[in-house]
Amino acid sequence: MVEISHLSKNYGDKKAVNDISFSVEEGEIMGFLGPNGAGKSTTLNILTGFLSATSGSAKIDGIDILEQPLEAKKLIGFLPEIPPLYPDMTVAEYMNFCYELKGCKLPRKQHLHEIGEVVKIADVNKRLIKNLSKGYRQRVGIAQALIGNPKVLIFDEPTIGLDPKQIIEIRNLIKHLGKNHTVILSTHILPEVQAVCDRIVIINKGRIVANEKTENLVNAVDGTRRLVAKIVGPEDQVLQLLRSTQGVKFADKLGRRDTDSVSYLIESQENVDIRKPLFYALARASYPLIGLEGDELNLEDIFMRLVDPQKKEKTEKRRRNASQAPEAGKRSGEKQ
Ligand code: ADP
Repeated sequence: MVEISHLSKNYGDKKAVNDISFSVEEGEIMGFLGPNGAGKSTTLNILTGFLSATSGSAKIDGIDILEQPLEAKKLIGFLPEIPPLYPDMTVAEYMNFCYELKGCKLPRKQHLHEIGEVVKIADVNKRLIKNLSKGYRQRVGIAQALIGNPKVLIFDEPTIGLDPKQIIEIRNLIKHLGKNHTVILSTHILPEVQAVCDRIVIINKGRIVANEKTENLVNAVDGTRRLVAKIVGPEDQVLQLLRSTQGVKFADKLGRRDTDSVSYLIESQENVDIRKPLFYALARASYPLIGLEGDELNLEDIFMRLVDPQKKEKTEKRRRNASQAPEAGKRSGEKQ
């Protein structure tokens, strides 16, 4: 549905976006992540037709935004970081104004009514926008993006400045819209991406450093699986056995001890599933395996590794230390 191919944008000598390619499938909610200055806004501004590219192409449903901007723009609904609202208009006036501005051809009354129902602004239709809460104003911003029923919705930092309840409501709304639209969500709030997005594209210094399904990202970054195993047996022998098991890259004690078992952190080599070999090796040696669970990196760890590889070691150390505190390590993979 969205296809960006070898896109570059230079500002003088500065390569703000440097030969990036990615696509977003129909019906997908894609999270577009990156630190400040990474090139997110530049990419979105090209995609929405506000900025030209130095080279490469950006296509929406096969239509090149640089070659046929008017046709391509009709396929996009955009909510910029600061929504383009007119505070002295009522919600209804504003929606009618945007309807005309976009040259929408859908039956006006019915279309605007349907949008009002979906984004739940029908009850504030007659209120002036300046008197609305920030959450409602954001809903009106989303409502204007839906005019014309565009196939692709692009949201730039949609929950910034909202309170926790409003954040949850807007995230749920985006998820709901994702059922009928292709969505690109630019954000730097990692739990938001984890909660909402099917796929994550991470950009850093103008280049794509990750493009993965959300659940696969951990493996894409590390290529290893991390497990925490609870094993009964003499610690040194157990550790020796773990380290000699085929496919194990790293094993160490975590220092957590139940009545008769000890917890070990085990990392496998790239793309190797070590759970069965571990089980059999421990069974042969009569060291009961009484617990085995994943110890995945969370998105924050992954992000730091990708955008600042030097932080990798620090993150590792922090994680290992955290793992040695009771109950801490195993919680690190939880969603926030
Ligand atoms: P992000 O949205 O990820 O914070 P941007 O796309 O805004 O990043 O910026 C990418 C890089 O391009 C940054 O280094 C920024 O300073 C630079 N940049 C952005 N806009 C301009 C501009 N109009 N002129 C010169 N440099 C710019």
